Amino acid sequence: MAPNNFFLWSLTFQLLLLLLVSSESSWIAGDVTQIPMKFLESAKSPEVFDWMVRIRRKIHENPELGYEEFETSKLIRSELDLIGVKYRSPVAITGVIGYIGTGEPPFVALRADMDALPIQEAVEWEHKSKIPGKMHACGHDGHVAMLLGAAKMLQEHRHDLQGTVVLIFQPAEEGLAGAKKMIEEGALKNVEAIFGLHLTNRFPFGKAASCAGSMLAGSGFFEAVITGKGGHAAIPQHTIDPVVAASSIVLSLQHLVSRETDPLDSKVVTVSKVHGGNAFNVIPDSVTIGGTIRAFTGFTQLEQRIKEVITKQATVHRCNASVNLRPNGKESLPPTVNNKDLYKQFKMVVRDLLGQEAFVEAAPVMGSEDFSYFAEAIPGHFSLLGMQDETKGYASSHSPHYRVNEDVLPYGAAIHVSMAVQYLKEKASKDSVTSSHDEL
Ligand SMILES: [Zn+2]
Ligand SMILES: [Zn+2]
Repeated sequence: MAPNNFFLWSLTFQLLLLLLVSSESSWIAGDVTQIPMKFLESAKSPEVFDWMVRIRRKIHENPELGYEEFETSKLIRSELDLIGVKYRSPVAITGVIGYIGTGEPPFVALRADMDALPIQEAVEWEHKSKIPGKMHACGHDGHVAMLLGAAKMLQEHRHDLQGTVVLIFQPAEEGLAGAKKMIEEGALKNVEAIFGLHLTNRFPFGKAASCAGSMLAGSGFFEAVITGKGGHAAIPQHTIDPVVAASSIVLSLQHLVSRETDPLDSKVVTVSKVHGGNAFNVIPDSVTIGGTIRAFTGFTQLEQRIKEVITKQATVHRCNASVNLRPNGKESLPPTVNNKDLYKQFKMVVRDLLGQEAFVEAAPVMGSEDFSYFAEAIPGHFSLLGMQDETKGYASSHSPHYRVNEDVLPYGAAIHVSMAVQYLKEKASKDSVTSSHDEL
């Protein structure tokens, strides 16, 4: 080929390539209702789907507990490196925060948790947990895979993003408040809104659920040591019996919900453990009780009343009581409250992606999620993505028989991407209206 011809040929080729690339990505700028389906097509392609499945299985084989997710974190970083996404790490020991887009405001965040549970997997399959006594039984392996799938698609469209998508891979959701630590280490810096998605076998495959306002309760724990004076069980007058005191305390604690709470405001006080004594004929020196509280409102007051009831009831029975509201360093969680505008956006994305009937209005439950810390700090939205298939009977989360229906992964990735892209688009259009008003 002559040099001139070669020059012309290569110019034409480059122009064609440019046209192809721009027509491929321009749909983000087009009809907003088409965006979820376009991303779903992309997420279902072998390039994205097989990749997500591979990642999920790899994480499933090597489950790591809260703040120990070193290999999981390394895997996330190496996959982000491969697709060219910049990130900050470590955040909160093992956390990773990726950034895709302009690097400028507005910033919108997508969150996945990374930790496993201290459960021995009972499912026999090719990619069963290789670590005895540890298992991904809450689907967090799937959450990481879906967010990486979203990262891959967002990275392909990074030039069309009207702001920056922040990918939050957080440690220690299961009881160790990883989200709180991520926030303390600046995960939400400049971020305006955040979305979280949890896989669930509570709802069928093809359904997604959330609600506006309170969706999950705040939770906390308490432990108390009631101390008296032990002695012979047949000579109680020479003892100060902590067993009777503890029994009275357990009953009195039940009045906090039944007698002091508005019946229309849901609260739970459960005493779930009582330890004391180990002989039939000996009154012990002390008894330890412990339990959990759940509430949507008035959390601090409830904690205060628990402390009062325990210490004062102990006094009635001539005992002393010490109360710990953070036993074993367990943090309390605020309730998870969904922002109304983000909830509306989620409903529309679900409708566009899964059809008119796919959205389920979730009734609030007394379970908790540490996503609540994010949603407390900035507008946030937490949702559930169903994956139940009655013919296969997937077990509920935190069960040793728990399984993830991997067919759900492209839907989760597409929801993540659509929520972020649509948020940025809406924000840009609002800003342009505001600035045109400013000009007037
Ligand atoms: Zn869990
Ligand atoms: Zn979970």
